[in-house]
Amino acid sequence: MMSKEKILVLKGIEETLHVILQKIDKGNEDFILSLGLDKKQNKILLNALDRFEKQIQVLFIKQKKEYLAAIANLPEYMKKNQKKVKHTVKKAAVPEILMDHIVEIMAGFIFANEKAYIDKLAALYVAFTNSFFGQIAEICARSVEGSRLGPNMSLTKRAADWLDQHKIQFAQEVNQTTHDAIIKSLKESLSEGKGNNPAGNKLVSDVPNHFNQSKVKEKEKKLEALTDPEKYNAVYQAVEQQQCFEFYRARRIARTETISAMNAATLEGWRQSEVVGGKEWVCACDKVSREWHKNADGQQVPLEEPFIVGGEKLMHPGDSSMGASAKNVIHCRCTMKSVLKYKMRR
Ligand SMILES: [Zn+2]
Repeated sequence: MMSKEKILVLKGIEETLHVILQKIDKGNEDFILSLGLDKKQNKILLNALDRFEKQIQVLFIKQKKEYLAAIANLPEYMKKNQKKVKHTVKKAAVPEILMDHIVEIMAGFIFANEKAYIDKLAALYVAFTNSFFGQIAEICARSVEGSRLGPNMSLTKRAADWLDQHKIQFAQEVNQTTHDAIIKSLKESLSEGKGNNPAGNKLVSDVPNHFNQSKVKEKEKKLEALTDPEKYNAVYQAVEQQQCFEFYRARRIARTETISAMNAATLEGWRQSEVVGGKEWVCACDKVSREWHKNADGQQVPLEEPFIVGGEKLMHPGDSSMGASAKNVIHCRCTMKSVLKYKMRR
């Protein structure tokens, strides 16, 4: 059962969508300009970025709404699945494990459509890269001195494979972060001494973590705590305030992916020019640039070899396909310069 208050929250989420989307339209221009690309590239990337950011935010808002509705229905779900709950809870020996078991059952219900969100994110990524990857690659291929690119350009298998693999990596990582954030909210709001709703906090402590045969009746009664709607207020509030659905996260993701795919497209273009032998790391180098990206500035490597940045391998700025960590990739605004074959230092 959903309370009136909760339905109002869900309605509110829908209504703020419009306001947020208007806000998104402003602000990406300076970001794109800060990359120091040519005008044509700026225009193509700005369009792709604006659209991608908007689509991710819309997806997050839908996802948040769906999860909140599921949480509002959790007491009902726990009631319907008493047997399963009882059986699972019985196995827990200590409160921490009891908590994990309860959260696991809840997660199964809340994240029932998780696979669909991963697929949607992957589809968004494909549409996003389709809108500019080829164009950027072609601009880059034609802009190098002596380029041998013919009149028609098609993506190499290598680039297609990169895009294919990256769409899955992208979708899974984005969704995993959302998933983990919700689980964290659940645990925090269900455990004692945390959250801001004492009734909710007591949920786990109200459930016995041992089933002594002689007291089964009494303990079963305590299990009913799991079906008390009042106890879920803290969970609902915690997820409602979760920052993983915020517009800033959508923006951060979209910007990071724009740079990454743009650099991958650049690399593809240079490959096809047949005259580029290497690439040089170019750091955006300002106050917010990370130290090890400043150090990478000027690093030259052959086209098909990775840069080594902060001890990690990256084929281009923003590339995580060779295992670079998030701290090396997120919010990076670094780009690359081409090095013609005959000008390679080694
Ligand atoms: Zn960087």
